[in-house]
Amino acid sequence: MMNRRTAIKHLGGAASALLLTDALRADGIQGGQATAAPAPAPPTGPFTLPALPYAYDALEPSFDATTMHLHHDKHHQTYVNNLNVAVAAHPELAGKTVEELVSNVNSLPEAVRTVVRNSGGGHANHSFWWPTLGKGGAAPTGELAKAIDAKFGSLSTFQDKLTAAALGVFGSGWAWLVRLPDGTLAIETTPNQDSPLTVGHKPVLTVDVWEHAYYLKYQNRRVEYVKAYFQVLNWDYVSGQFAQKA
Ligand code: MN
Repeated sequence: MMNRRTAIKHLGGAASALLLTDALRADGIQGGQATAAPAPAPPTGPFTLPALPYAYDALEPSFDATTMHLHHDKHHQTYVNNLNVAVAAHPELAGKTVEELVSNVNSLPEAVRTVVRNSGGGHANHSFWWPTLGKGGAAPTGELAKAIDAKFGSLSTFQDKLTAAALGVFGSGWAWLVRLPDGTLAIETTPNQDSPLTVGHKPVLTVDVWEHAYYLKYQNRRVEYVKAYFQVLNWDYVSGQFAQKA
């Protein structure tokens, strides 16, 4: 019997499609069994999928266009859809931003806490992430450059530490550079779609280490994917955001 890798090698597109289906199911995206009744269309609001601020192929070759389409159009959209379904049943949540929901998840009604944590977190984390990519600048500037040097000694030491944190995430999650309430920087990781906002830490930059972010191109080689991440990290944007929010 062929293992999955062998099957992919032999069957190419067909097996890749199966792999995609598995990845979608892992995120709660419906697999489309022929016998199942079609699910009703999810509400189209109040939350919506933000458009990417660049073309799907803008991050090639580091992040391939196929992965970007799947990641943004399917995975992120599903977090939005599931959050909208939950909010439809709890209209008192509809006036809040997703960041407000995620920041205060522990004070929400218990019935919606898990879906806000997972789907609200997924929406907030991806919405934060997309604009931080885009090949803008090779290094941090201004206040962020100073803060990284003050905390980590050098940019390369920071990159080594963020890489180690990203590689250390067991299963699905994110590695972050955050600003703590005292204003200093820290590297931390969150499992699944948990957000640093929930514990009052402000994201500065992040790397998505869910397999859906890299498996099509990098398979199990997360270290290569994280290296590629630094090639498409938009330091100009991240530095500008940091300076504005200081
Ligand atoms: Mn993701």
